[in-house]
Amino acid sequence: MRAASGRLQDNPVVGQKRVLLAAPRGYCAGVDRAVVAVEKALERYGAPVYVRKQIVHNIHVVTELEDKGAIFVEEVDEVPEGAHVVFSAHGVSPAVVNAASDRGLHAIDATCPLVTKVHREAVRFARDDFEILLIGHEGHEEVEGTAGEAPDHVTIVNSPDDADRVQVKDPSKVVWLSQTTLSVDETMETVNRLRSRFPELHNPPSDDICYATQNRQVAIKKVAAAADLVIVVGSSNSSNSVRLVEVALEYGAKAAYRVDYAEEVQQEWLDGVETVGVTSGASVPEVLVREVLAALDDAGYRDVEEIKTAEEDLMFSLPKELRQDAAGQRDARALGGRPSGGGA
Ligand code: SF4
Repeated sequence: MRAASGRLQDNPVVGQKRVLLAAPRGYCAGVDRAVVAVEKALERYGAPVYVRKQIVHNIHVVTELEDKGAIFVEEVDEVPEGAHVVFSAHGVSPAVVNAASDRGLHAIDATCPLVTKVHREAVRFARDDFEILLIGHEGHEEVEGTAGEAPDHVTIVNSPDDADRVQVKDPSKVVWLSQTTLSVDETMETVNRLRSRFPELHNPPSDDICYATQNRQVAIKKVAAAADLVIVVGSSNSSNSVRLVEVALEYGAKAAYRVDYAEEVQQEWLDGVETVGVTSGASVPEVLVREVLAALDDAGYRDVEEIKTAEEDLMFSLPKELRQDAAGQRDARALGGRPSGGGA
């Protein structure tokens, strides 16, 4: 655990200090599955196991997996032929799957099933010859993966302003899809602006912004309304964490900051602050939140109340490649033989 205590000073001028702790916060089902997939792959095949891109957008998680023997690469051509490679929770395009196969890699696909759902929608709408307006951040791995399912049919819409500019060939055959980790409110503004230009715009069959993103935004809206300061634990490249800062400011927090670690909390942020809201993005382990709470405790914020707006119990099974190998190992043990499918 990183040292957090002793850095922040208690400020006796401020009375009634308290913390409102948002729930749900932290790990979602897709992140949990992806991290466990890398750990299981390391256990089963031994180090190193390669991971294309950050398995989830959290520097602490990535560093811990590196310590256990994972090697993170940007592209599959950096992975030695025949090695095991895990695709991150954000998903990959078919071009990446093919490149891994051409290289003879043993790929383990840790794409979140809720991202895969959006991929399938893109494939289906492209097959029906729709033009797909994909609301999301250009350059984000998830957007690259989804767009790569139907590159000739997808146009990326980065923002509400982009919705006023985007051109389509046939306004009667247009559908919008979205990245899973966007601000719900901003996405709806983008959709409304698109619809004012293209009244026949089709909706996705179900919400693309995932349950975890939505739940964390609902919780921080409630907390922010009563908070002088909101601290969001999460990394700078974590889309849903960055959105939580924006949502907190929009819903009443006087100030909101994102930190990777407790030691990044600045003394001056606490000047005159009675109520601190705390939350964390979907890729953040709870230990990092506990360290922030410990730092706040040092500063006299000892009264912690959890504000829970939803229960979450969703869990995803491991990627099929690991399930298949597990079944192979069970069968081999039953026959008294060596495990099959063990790879390297
Ligand atoms: S944030 Fe949502 S889409 Fe992303 S991994 Fe978690 S559950 Fe899946």
